[in-house]
Amino acid sequence: MADRFFVDVPIAGESARLTGSEAHHLAHVMRAKAGQQVSLFDGSGAEFAARIERVGRAEIELSVQGREEVNRELPVLITLAVALPKGDRQRWLVEKATELGAARLVPLVTERSNDRESSGALEKLRRSVIEASKQCGRNRLMEIAAPRPAASFWTGVADAARIVAHPGGAMVRGVLDAALADGKNNAITVAVGPEGGFTDAEIDAARAAGWQMVDLGRSILRVETAALALLAAIGAQG
Ligand code: SAM
Repeated sequence: MADRFFVDVPIAGESARLTGSEAHHLAHVMRAKAGQQVSLFDGSGAEFAARIERVGRAEIELSVQGREEVNRELPVLITLAVALPKGDRQRWLVEKATELGAARLVPLVTERSNDRESSGALEKLRRSVIEASKQCGRNRLMEIAAPRPAASFWTGVADAARIVAHPGGAMVRGVLDAALADGKNNAITVAVGPEGGFTDAEIDAARAAGWQMVDLGRSILRVETAALALLAAIGAQG
């Protein structure tokens, strides 16, 4: 696969421009030269063969030679609602959730983790999504949604398949088999709690709103491990 770069506006026509950190990376880290071939994506689902025409101080101009729809998405649209851990663990979770094919990540604000990510922190997470997509070949970006309080989240999800990871719940394989068999549902939302777990009140509210609790095995997993185990289990179904 040619080196991939992200263009943050839809690519239309025969030219494209890289700016910001993408231009910096290509010009100063990869030491790009005019004439070099690269691959571009703009999050629309396509990838574009391109040739570097001019390397400027802060931007790179390219000619676009071809467009190809390349679908590396899962057949099921997964929304991961998660009480995000802090710092590097958060970035790692976002990177791996991107690789494992989640379509959307909703930071959950829960009773035991009531910090709301700042808009700057969310922007950094979006940057992590781009970096992971460059590496893993996805041509659609995992959306980082605005943080949502768990209390109002449970009743606002339209997906028929709605699952909460919670120790003592039903066996995950059986629940996923029933939810995803024969392409029955093409969208699923999964929720993972904070380090202290969801409170009884949160679990009761989720149950009352029709969510199913699933157990991920005998060990108590850290937030990011639980989230990735669920994503991998769903990906393996499809
Ligand atoms: N003491 C907390 C509890 O009992 O819920 C542990 C919380 S765990 C560190 C963080 C989150 O990961 C949980 O809220 C749950 O969503 C998920 N999780 C961790 N281990 C799990 C397991 N074995 N089964 C289901 N969910 C699990």
